[in-house]
Amino acid sequence: MKDVPNILWLEEIRKEDIISVGGKGASLGEMASIGLPVPKAFVVTAQAFRRFLVETGLEAKIFASYNKLDVEDNEALEKAAEGAKAMVLKAKMPAAIRDEIKKAYKKISPDDLIVAVRSSATAEDLPDASFAGQQETYLNIRGEAALLTAVQKCWASLYGARAIYYRAKQGFDDHTVNIAVVVQQLVHSEKAGVMFTSHPITGEPKTIIEGSWGLGEAVVSGTVSPDNYVFDQRAEKVVDHFIANKKVEIIADGDNGTKVVDIAGARQDAQVLSDEEVTKLAMYGKIAEDHYGIPQDVEWGIVDKTIYILQSRPITTIGKKEAKGMPGQTSSGKIILKGQGAAPGIASGKVVIIRDVKDTGSVKEGDILVTRMTNPDMVPAMRKVAAIVTDEGGMTCHAAIVSRELGTPAVVGTKTATSMLKNGQLITVDGEMGLIYDGVIAHAVHAQAAAAEVVAGHAPIITATSVKVNVSIPEAAQRAAATGADGVGLLRIEHLILGLNKTPGWFIANKKEEDFVLELHDGIKTVLDAFPGKPVWVRTLDAPTDEFRNMMGGENEPHEHNPMLGWRGIRRDIQSPDQFRLQVESFKRLWKEGYENLGIMFPMVSHPDQFIRAKEMMREAGVDVEKVTLGIMIEIPSSAIMIEDFIRAGIKFASFGTNDLIQYTLAIDRNNENVADMYEPQHPAVLSLIHDAIQMCRAYDIECSICGQAGSDPKMAVWLVEHGISSISANIDAIAKIREAVARTEKRIILEAARTKDAE
Ligand code: PEP
Ligand code: MG
Repeated sequence: MKDVPNILWLEEIRKEDIISVGGKGASLGEMASIGLPVPKAFVVTAQAFRRFLVETGLEAKIFASYNKLDVEDNEALEKAAEGAKAMVLKAKMPAAIRDEIKKAYKKISPDDLIVAVRSSATAEDLPDASFAGQQETYLNIRGEAALLTAVQKCWASLYGARAIYYRAKQGFDDHTVNIAVVVQQLVHSEKAGVMFTSHPITGEPKTIIEGSWGLGEAVVSGTVSPDNYVFDQRAEKVVDHFIANKKVEIIADGDNGTKVVDIAGARQDAQVLSDEEVTKLAMYGKIAEDHYGIPQDVEWGIVDKTIYILQSRPITTIGKKEAKGMPGQTSSGKIILKGQGAAPGIASGKVVIIRDVKDTGSVKEGDILVTRMTNPDMVPAMRKVAAIVTDEGGMTCHAAIVSRELGTPAVVGTKTATSMLKNGQLITVDGEMGLIYDGVIAHAVHAQAAAAEVVAGHAPIITATSVKVNVSIPEAAQRAAATGADGVGLLRIEHLILGLNKTPGWFIANKKEEDFVLELHDGIKTVLDAFPGKPVWVRTLDAPTDEFRNMMGGENEPHEHNPMLGWRGIRRDIQSPDQFRLQVESFKRLWKEGYENLGIMFPMVSHPDQFIRAKEMMREAGVDVEKVTLGIMIEIPSSAIMIEDFIRAGIKFASFGTNDLIQYTLAIDRNNENVADMYEPQHPAVLSLIHDAIQMCRAYDIECSICGQAGSDPKMAVWLVEHGISSISANIDAIAKIREAVARTEKRIILEAARTKDAE
């Protein structure tokens, strides 16, 4: 750490420097290095901030001031935050850091260049944690004094109430979260906005661009409802555009700061971007996405026909949310309001209209928060609600980004929600379709509607390697099927019962066995119905004991020192014949009803004897085990190493559960953030286990698949296809990109083989 300088120039930075320059800084450095048009910049490193904290003696003081803070206590949170911020702002910046910042500023340009000063928290912009809007940005800063103040304000913003709250909720350790500051030539954009390089909800290769007049802040903050353009990466053309009525723009205000001004006359409804500009932007977006290997959320600006890429970070959103709501009740199904579906999921609840952040005290768990536009101070309230509806904003505004992160369905840009809806009114929010229904409405209707739309959107690419989809909740079945996936490579049935809030043991102890069987039967059937004739691999129960603890019956669950290594998966089922028998009963009924595409997969097997025993137990329960499709998950190194013995024992397929295989190979608890950086899906040892097991399966002509999260990473998919995997099962949102990666790799392999043959 000592060696890292206080200042780093953009050209010196690579994405590995994230610890020193934060997500924003690292990303800008990478972008510049691959030739994207990034404005000139330098970064005041996180180490400079640490030196500031240490040299001023603030480090210990700040943490002591909110050590025992209960972040749910708003008043205490505000007080602690104010105190910490004031300490940072009042402290004198060490002379060495001050001088280096001044020197760098002169180097960017001898005359006082107007710059944007942006905080770049070192945990910010990581794939799983969008701290959107949680730290400050100061635009239009000119002169050394203003620059130094802005840097110090950015540092202080690390201790804003909302930032502390957000970090606590996301489980970040505040002692180690650092902040870097990006100082960058301010692009006085004539038009600007944001771009999702792939569809932020479906993951399709469609670039979504939002743009408006003036600086991009208007779009990002949701101050304006922007134009919306869709560029299809496959067809390589603009396929849709929506021209919004843009009432205001944000522009520079003299030497410091910005102001919101009205847009006059015809400019309000004028199209912001030409097709040519959309195409060029989408191309830059594609370069960024290809480089990072993951869809990006990009900020851009245009001055004098020159495009600048201002920021890029991974989309942190898709598919984390399952629908909340009140199934079972229905309404007329009348659509009363439309907007943009910004965060997927469907939720019903009572409207609570918030006109001022002070009123968020009236928001209760499960309400629907309706407001003009959310802001970071509302995050505690946003966390409680079942859904969020706003008047203003687009797919990338605060409400949209934070809702996706929190996993709360959101519809933004409805224009009139706060005036049309009434406090206490019951509504249903469909965060995928952007629709608000009167009353409470059953989920299935939407699932189908959503599915139909996605199907209409693109024709499937045919691949020789099957591309399947993972499903955990039956409500997602239609959406999953709409991806055109070749089947379900993993249906986790514990999710079918976790929602009932009772353990399997509770059903057995309370003589409610039939209820349990029916619940499993119905949930699995919903998924089977969505995939007629396609293989659906249902996994037997695999919930660690701690996940059952808070359910009815949870008091009887054993307390385990390490539930990850404990009584779960097939090892528990073999020792709990009643629990296993009930699952088998639900499968039997489905087979009897003609669902021959149902296959059963056993989790956490470590020895072929377990497979043989489970098969035997099924036979005893009356299943024709030689006829049905039974397979295993490869989650424990022993099962990868002994795969040939499993094949000899009669498995019909095997699927890598890399989430566990990685943790058990590397001894890295997958849920432990302290070792998260060592959780390496492409660790040579993991790849070696996978490679060897694939080859063995190929030798015996056994289907070999993957259903762990690694299968949703296109880079891993390429590797797997190159090494001969038979199928890949990915998350709903990843299907499009995985299919594309698989298709490209297959074509490349064929091409290379043909060229080699030609050369012979
Ligand atoms: C896995 O381990 O990769 C897997 C798919 O199972 P789970 O994530 O449910 O443990
Ligand atoms: Mg697993």
